[in-house]
Amino acid sequence: MKTYIQVALIVVGCLAIAGCASKHFIIDRYPVSETSGFVLDLDEVRRLATAGGGELPVEVRSLVVAEASMPRWFAMAGGGSGSIPFDIVAYQVVYPDGTVIIDSCFDKEEAYDGIAVFFLRKFQLNTYSQENYEILQESLRNASLILVTHEHFDHIGGIAASPYPTEIIPHLLLTKEQAEGPIATDPRFLGGEFSGYVPLSYEGPYYTAKPGIVLIKAPGHAPGQQIIYVTTKDGNEYLFIGDIIWNRENLKRRVYRPRISSMKDDLDSAREEFRWVLEKLYDDPSNKIIYVISHDRDQLRDYINAGVITEGFK
Ligand SMILES: [Zn+2]
Ligand SMILES: [Zn+2]
Repeated sequence: MKTYIQVALIVVGCLAIAGCASKHFIIDRYPVSETSGFVLDLDEVRRLATAGGGELPVEVRSLVVAEASMPRWFAMAGGGSGSIPFDIVAYQVVYPDGTVIIDSCFDKEEAYDGIAVFFLRKFQLNTYSQENYEILQESLRNASLILVTHEHFDHIGGIAASPYPTEIIPHLLLTKEQAEGPIATDPRFLGGEFSGYVPLSYEGPYYTAKPGIVLIKAPGHAPGQQIIYVTTKDGNEYLFIGDIIWNRENLKRRVYRPRISSMKDDLDSAREEFRWVLEKLYDDPSNKIIYVISHDRDQLRDYINAGVITEGFK
């Protein structure tokens, strides 16, 4: 009898611990602060973007290499059951005489086993287009500048596995933090041709020397995360906000990721960046800036339908 009671108590105790852990790691929300300490001086960014003169880009294009989905509870605190689309996308900024690539998706087979498997367990890969991956590799090879929003494998993996390392390295602009990440420091990165690379160090907004493109540090989600500002000839302005959030629903519900999916984040910075996006881009009815959430399939569809991003690479 005593044994049954002991077992029952242990089971109840375990369930209570599991319940508390689930609440803490999956359901509990980080409070969204009232104001954001994240500094993004848009007037200065706009000034820098055009100060060097030169022809501005004529369009922004997108290429979906993989379609995936992610559990809602993993993408947003208290998100519940079901899943959200989580696509793996690269972007191409087109000039009259060249292109700039933002992010590089990942190679299906070679996205460094350990890291890839860790992340792939969090999202389910539904389709993978080898054809688009090969188009992306050719586009990286032909680009005059290659940028990534941050150093996670779903953004830098295509660069890591490029079959043309010596051709793309001269056009690759990685920041110090991105170059010091686990993927770029792996000896297999860019076929081992990466040693001696001098990364970019910057603090305030940084003009890339490509008309219309400025980088802004945003290190909450990853130490090397940056927002990429692009303005085009027709006056459109874009902010590629990387993985500050994974879906517009975070903004709609005003919740950041749960603890379980933000354990590696610098949470103070991440919450301030999230708050900035919420306040300046989402809540402000006068905002005209096209902010691009890397993995939000429905947002990308809306931008394609609105004619501000073109589907497919040139
Ligand atoms: Zn990321
Ligand atoms: Zn990502």
